[in-house]
Amino acid sequence: MTLKIEIVPVTPFAQNSSIVMCEETKEAAVVDPGGEVDRIIAQAESMGAKITKIILTHAHIDHAGGVADLARKLSLPIEGPQEKDQFWISALPQQSQMFGFPNVETFTPDRWLNDGDEVTIGNQTLNVIHTPGHTPGHVVFYHQNSKLAFVGDVIFQGSIGRTDFPQSNHQELVDSIRNKLFPLGDDITFVPGHGPTSTFGQEKETNPFVGGRAG
Ligand SMILES: [Zn+2]
Repeated sequence: MTLKIEIVPVTPFAQNSSIVMCEETKEAAVVDPGGEVDRIIAQAESMGAKITKIILTHAHIDHAGGVADLARKLSLPIEGPQEKDQFWISALPQQSQMFGFPNVETFTPDRWLNDGDEVTIGNQTLNVIHTPGHTPGHVVFYHQNSKLAFVGDVIFQGSIGRTDFPQSNHQELVDSIRNKLFPLGDDITFVPGHGPTSTFGQEKETNPFVGGRAG
């Protein structure tokens, strides 16, 4: 094993924040700390992990609402999402009002991510895949050795991300899944932003939005 993963569902949306730790160095990234930052920190401590960065799939509040708080508490750099999600980061205060979240601050990523970039966690490397559709700047983090992907709100077990938001695009989302995620392999397990994990192979077979042999 090279990576150890713990999923911490946070916020009233039960968003799957993940702690992703390099087993050799114990360094860890937090994927999508949407809130309940103290719970995430406590979980990392119980793993013996030292959190060294925050990585973000996209900037909806249930994924990004705890970023400013966690970054400040542990002096962490923020990597991601892709720059086209800037308008969602700017809108975090309005998003928090709309959904009744405690006051959420905006932030500035230390590094915007693009397709083909790499993110390091200790001795391990995640590949960055730009997957627009749910939001224009959505990215997926893929760890080849463990055949594992963190896909945010691109695809779920039996469903796909909503596209009724500003700058969402249903066809782009379907194309991202079929052309960028499914080719990674049927045996890739993914951690979605909500609900249980699945594999790309299972979704290819059974997901009514992107499955089957339809073109
Ligand atoms: Zn979302």
